[in-house]
Amino acid sequence: MEHGFIAWAKQRAMRLPKIKLGIGDDCALIESDGSDWVVTTDSLCEGTHFILAECGPQAVGKKLVGVNLSDLASMAARPVAVFLSLCLPRNSAEQIGAEIYEGVCKACQEYHVAIGGGDTNVWDGPLVVHLTAIGTAPKEGTWLRSGARPGDKIVVSGKLGGSLLGRHLDFEPRLRVAQRLHPLGIVQAATDISDGLGVDLLNITVASRCGAEVDLDKIPISDAAIHRAMTSGQTALEHAIGDGEDFELLLAVDPSKIDQMPESIDGVPLTVIGTFVSRTGLWSRSKGGVMQMQARGYVHG
Ligand SMILES: [Mg+2]
Repeated sequence: MEHGFIAWAKQRAMRLPKIKLGIGDDCALIESDGSDWVVTTDSLCEGTHFILAECGPQAVGKKLVGVNLSDLASMAARPVAVFLSLCLPRNSAEQIGAEIYEGVCKACQEYHVAIGGGDTNVWDGPLVVHLTAIGTAPKEGTWLRSGARPGDKIVVSGKLGGSLLGRHLDFEPRLRVAQRLHPLGIVQAATDISDGLGVDLLNITVASRCGAEVDLDKIPISDAAIHRAMTSGQTALEHAIGDGEDFELLLAVDPSKIDQMPESIDGVPLTVIGTFVSRTGLWSRSKGGVMQMQARGYVHG
């Protein structure tokens, strides 16, 4: 539903000249006399994004900040402030609210982000939390999804898959990686991996009007993906492509400048996993040749 809804919402929205970039990328871009503002918002719902009884409220607060900062990182923005809104279940609203806030405060402290305000509500439904994060854009321009060109290298940070085993609650938004890479001027397009490598790569190709060819044996697979594959009935590679919530960066890097890309930044590896191509769609390259690749969780060949 989400893609269709976003396309409709984009058409329906009023456009104003100050909004340089509206609905459809990881963040919006708002013109300012100084640095442009970069704004994003995300919600987490009990039962969908976390199980409160298993992870506890502090982890929810930490994750909420992390997912938003990951979107800012994907545009190479520097975070400034967040705004928090809580819909708390009536039976233990105060205690849960305080613990979530503790998690939000700790994460904000870690990344030097201010809490600018928010809102609290109590209701009869499950826990739902929202956050809006605001950052500043680099003067040289933000990374967008739409900048990939045929020939650009597909690069991912970190290792992928198996986030359900814990990493989806405890990850590092790749702000530092972005802030080190951006000044090199080698990145043409970017997003973060929230829905899964396949889906998020497809998003870049659609925005950039090109395709992507992935070398399956180059995809960096996390230990958690290997672990999940032991019991899930899926391969570790399928987990790496389809699981999502990795919150790693997915980049298009200029092939003529690929030598300038560090192998890793602060211990986070950067891996070339393929090439953007002029033929639209997702393609996988393996020993069996080049085949069409499914965006979500199922790999041919
Ligand atoms: Mg995103």
